[in-house]
Amino acid sequence: MTDLKKLILDRVRDIPDYPRPGVVFKDISPLLADPVAFSAVVEELAGLCGGCDKVVGIEARGFILAAPVAYRERAGFVPVRKKGKLPAETLEAAYDLEYGSAVIEVHRDAFAAGDRVFIVDDVLATGGTVQATVELVRRAGASVVGAAVLMELSFLNGRERLEGVDLRSLVVV
Ligand code: AMP
Repeated sequence: MTDLKKLILDRVRDIPDYPRPGVVFKDISPLLADPVAFSAVVEELAGLCGGCDKVVGIEARGFILAAPVAYRERAGFVPVRKKGKLPAETLEAAYDLEYGSAVIEVHRDAFAAGDRVFIVDDVLATGGTVQATVELVRRAGASVVGAAVLMELSFLNGRERLEGVDLRSLVVV
């Protein structure tokens, strides 16, 4: 196991039955609070960005990782948020959750035509959130050069929904 994987695995804690019975929540708070681990993760993610123009962070924990990656790469930061949070005109995409559905949005003018966009989130579970974000970026006229998550939950097969997207996971569990 690489040092980075160990840094991550040692600092992401499992919270059973949160937010619902049967779900094991991956809490990245200890990792964010550790200066060495946080910095190592940001550096690794920045290295995957590949000269992107914009880094998209997915609400809410994706913001925490994507913003320093954007800063580090001298790229712009764009938030993708849950419906009703962005003040200007938006594009929206609906997607299925384990129970029910959700809607996320991005500002319609968030990207310049042809922008190279890198998507960042904390955890890939069923893949629906990243898939909907890819759709939003493309509908907004930009291109997705890649996506990265701190942790991929492989047993949920989220990667299968992201065919054609260069998805990198710092840790697969
Ligand atoms: P999904 O769309 O199913 O891939 O879910 C991914 C989104 O939900 C990400 O924004 C995660 O922050 C969150 N998420 C889903 N499952 C978990 C989990 N077990 N632990 C932490 N976050 C999760």
